[in-house]
Amino acid sequence: MIAITLLGTGSPIPSPDRAGPSTLITAGSGTDAEHYLVDAGRGVLMRMAAVGVGAPNLAAVLITHLHSDHITDLNDVITTRWVMTFEPTPLTVVGPVGTQAVVDHLLASLGPDIAYRMAHHDDLDHPPPVTVVEVADGPVELPGHADGAVRIRCAPTDHRPVEPSVGYRFDHAGASVVAAGDTVPCDGLDELCDGADALVHTVIRKDIIENLPLQRMQDTLDYHSSPAEAAQTAARGGVATLVLTHYVPPISPGDAGDDWRGLAAEHFDGTVEIGDDLHRVEVAGSGAL
Ligand SMILES: [Zn+2]
Ligand SMILES: [Zn+2]
Repeated sequence: MIAITLLGTGSPIPSPDRAGPSTLITAGSGTDAEHYLVDAGRGVLMRMAAVGVGAPNLAAVLITHLHSDHITDLNDVITTRWVMTFEPTPLTVVGPVGTQAVVDHLLASLGPDIAYRMAHHDDLDHPPPVTVVEVADGPVELPGHADGAVRIRCAPTDHRPVEPSVGYRFDHAGASVVAAGDTVPCDGLDELCDGADALVHTVIRKDIIENLPLQRMQDTLDYHSSPAEAAQTAARGGVATLVLTHYVPPISPGDAGDDWRGLAAEHFDGTVEIGDDLHRVEVAGSGAL
């Protein structure tokens, strides 16, 4: 079983109700569960706390691309992991080429904090250990995790001019979940989705945005998918469940998102999931044990 938790369903536009883009992928259950964080948007650790998962519990953080809204709180994950573990516990951060440089700069910006804490806590004798794995296409190998129960692979997506960007597929005990990130329909995402059980896809309402008299919003039309495009990707892959997130414009509190669901359902016969932060979807998988 794989559980998908939409930690943050928001976007760059601050919302009182929706944290920034982040999704928790939990493979298995109980003490054997492995938690993978896909993107680390605004408020991610608050939302993780709400489901009882802390930064020390993460098997890895996987970044789809380096747009700020998807990584705003990566520094918080790094620092909190560091101060809440009592022996060196490296955090693995997987991401596209450029991730190492971003992490290096984050650690540099945390320099004063790291120095304060190491000077103040006698038992904190090392800076935050972070291992970056830059990926482009194919299997994702996590350091020290060679015989893990979860297989992960990635493929390039198309979020141009944001380059590079990647999506991830998680396979565990007969269940498979794809996390697309921000992308327009593309071959790389189709390849990941082929035969998957669920697809988590960020979306924007192009039919609304295109009517806004704001060039800066219009600029976002050409590198995101609409609910219809995400649904078409899910249909091509034979995916059973489409989970929409990253709602632009934000869905209002109390609105179940039925109009969004309807736009997707015109192109996709499976289940369409839309929800508030902490919405959880369980994927048993066709070959579940
Ligand atoms: Zn983006
Ligand atoms: Zn985004």
